[in-house]
Amino acid sequence: MSNKIGTNIGVDKLIEESGPYVSWALQQRKEFMELRLDQEQEIREIYENMSKRISLQVAEGNLNTFDQARLRRIQQEMKTRIDDLNGQLTINFDNYIKRNIQAGSGYSKKITLNLIDRASITRVSKSIVKDTFYRMNIDSAEAMWSRSRYGLKLSDQIWNKNQNYRKSINNILTSGVASGEDCLTVARGIENYVKKGKKSFAKDYPNMMARMPGRIPEDISYEALRLARTEMTSAYGMGTTKAAHLNPATKGIKYILSASHPKYDICDPITMADDYGLGPGGYPLDKAPLYPFHPNCLCIMTTINEDPEELVARLRAWEQNPSSQPDLERWYQENYAA
Ligand SMILES: [Zn+2]
Repeated sequence: MSNKIGTNIGVDKLIEESGPYVSWALQQRKEFMELRLDQEQEIREIYENMSKRISLQVAEGNLNTFDQARLRRIQQEMKTRIDDLNGQLTINFDNYIKRNIQAGSGYSKKITLNLIDRASITRVSKSIVKDTFYRMNIDSAEAMWSRSRYGLKLSDQIWNKNQNYRKSINNILTSGVASGEDCLTVARGIENYVKKGKKSFAKDYPNMMARMPGRIPEDISYEALRLARTEMTSAYGMGTTKAAHLNPATKGIKYILSASHPKYDICDPITMADDYGLGPGGYPLDKAPLYPFHPNCLCIMTTINEDPEELVARLRAWEQNPSSQPDLERWYQENYAA
């Protein structure tokens, strides 16, 4: 339950920072957390279903010994299965990348549309704002797939995770041959491991565990889940940052320390530093450290916004005389001028 308390501490600061936009900020955080849970469940299901298909094929041998010939037949189909796995995960990642970018950019979009409404300006129309955010979301999703991190594109990172999945399943199959188990036992062993993890497998299938030729991870989905969390947080961060440029209220980015932070790490100094007069964790757009700060980082990212009353007055003044508000004129020229 300490995680829950930690989350609330972070959310308190989010409430404080978002001021008049608090309901949108909380809704955005909730959306991000829900996307995370939904995606994790889907990824687990993808691996469980694939493993089920492999175990069903093994189980066809019934009480016959699971021998080298049967192992080879399973292995022959493995390449097609891994291709299938890559395809399914790619679709899953693409879907959630788009939804996380949208979730990240939604806050600035709502603020921008609201300000235009309240100021009743016409130089920037609501439909131009909507179009600009829409195009930004699409460009960001493409950028997520085309960029390299650690020298690898996202598609290669997904491929690597599935090669490790293949190796783990192969280690279990090989251990079944080495311990002379029947096919049904090996099939149940795979399902036990995929659903309950390595500890349960080691307890229920000690003979196979003892003859395991290489390592198997505690949780077969762990690597893919970790990659998903990191990439989706990054997509959310990209959406937040790019949308912040399109929002005239943006004064900077704010990072807030959050849940599951049992020990001091890189997130502490980043969320504590107050180097730009924007408060702890506050950074101008071009100085904000890249988010997330580490895999599984749950720090909250939001934007620092100008007071809406003042900004509405400034937007009206800008519409009358653009040169009276040079910062708003720059915002317009950089983002909305045709
Ligand atoms: Zn963090």
